[in-house]
Amino acid sequence: MNTCPLCHQDNATSFIRIDDFPLLLFPVSEYLKNKIEKKRLETYICADCNHIFRSPITEEDAQLIYNNYYAFYPFENLESMNEPYRIPFRRVFHDVYPTIQRPATLLEVGCGSSEQLGFFRTYGIKAFGIDRSVFVDKSSSDIISGVYEEYDFPHRFDTIVSRFSLEHLNDVHGFFRKVEQDLNADGVLFIQVPNVYAFAGSLIPLFLAHEHIHYFNPYSLHVAAVENGFQVVAAHYDGSQSIIFALRREDAPIRQRPMIIPKVPDGFYRDYLERRRVLAQDLTSVLSRTNHCYFYGAGLSLCWILYELKAMEKLVNVAVIDDNCLAQGKFLPHTSYRIANLEDAKFRKHSTMILSMNPVYHKNVISKIRASDFQGEVYNISNVGLSKLI
Ligand SMILES: [Zn+2]
Repeated sequence: MNTCPLCHQDNATSFIRIDDFPLLLFPVSEYLKNKIEKKRLETYICADCNHIFRSPITEEDAQLIYNNYYAFYPFENLESMNEPYRIPFRRVFHDVYPTIQRPATLLEVGCGSSEQLGFFRTYGIKAFGIDRSVFVDKSSSDIISGVYEEYDFPHRFDTIVSRFSLEHLNDVHGFFRKVEQDLNADGVLFIQVPNVYAFAGSLIPLFLAHEHIHYFNPYSLHVAAVENGFQVVAAHYDGSQSIIFALRREDAPIRQRPMIIPKVPDGFYRDYLERRRVLAQDLTSVLSRTNHCYFYGAGLSLCWILYELKAMEKLVNVAVIDDNCLAQGKFLPHTSYRIANLEDAKFRKHSTMILSMNPVYHKNVISKIRASDFQGEVYNISNVGLSKLI
């Protein structure tokens, strides 16, 4: 049994373990593809708050990922700027903004670039950022290059924002304690993290990555906030790929009714693991009947097939297709398949295609495949498992 880093119960058991799992899951150049380190990733789940976590990342691995490998992530790929994450965040912020003290000051922790601060400035807010990444925009005088938890600010802020950074921290409680020092008594803390509860509900087979220490569900994030004297005053997470909380101190002069955040239903993640096992079995069975297979989508589902199922080893001929021009011509770490676009793919007879991209694109992609030379069977991976489409 392991101790849950959020609720501290000694109630955590093994969740998913992947051996030889690359420290970067993104297409890279041919030169780099075999230079990405591989390590075992072992995760645990707390029986009490259902938080999923890995053991703290070593400083050495963190350096490798953030200071070396992140250089290969194209800037446009910044998670927090993706529309499905950006729009609901801005909506929650807009709803809560009338209750924020004015003129307001704001600090965004892990801001990446000054581009995001521009949104807050449209409200007349004085916005600053802090980011530990060596790739942070150093030309902006409003962004501090440093580690938030180690930085002493000369004044408090009315608003603190953290988007997609809590899941990277070894010590979540340390973050909340620091915010406690830096936030005005009636200030608001906005947090956005990936919603792993929604990922599992959609049967996304892989949501693990070495640099993510924490895999929050709405309840586990709420547990960490409450322990540190915060309460949720606005939230957005139902059916959404991210969890967004607006939090105030329990003892804030502005009294707002705290929201009740429900626990994950009993057996939810056990069912997920079972459905994922069936998906793996179905996929392995389809792949065992073909020699030539095309994978459409070089994202996390394909990483699951490559690195956890290790399913490609038995195939004679594999090709990987992706519509993203940033991925084309590159390779997923430790593979020999150059990522192509659909138009350039040379199709063999009696082959199989697996749609391994986000299901929201399936409809569009199916019509492209029908218009191409491809003649074999097409399967997709979605929230109901593996299905044959053509
Ligand atoms: Zn827990």
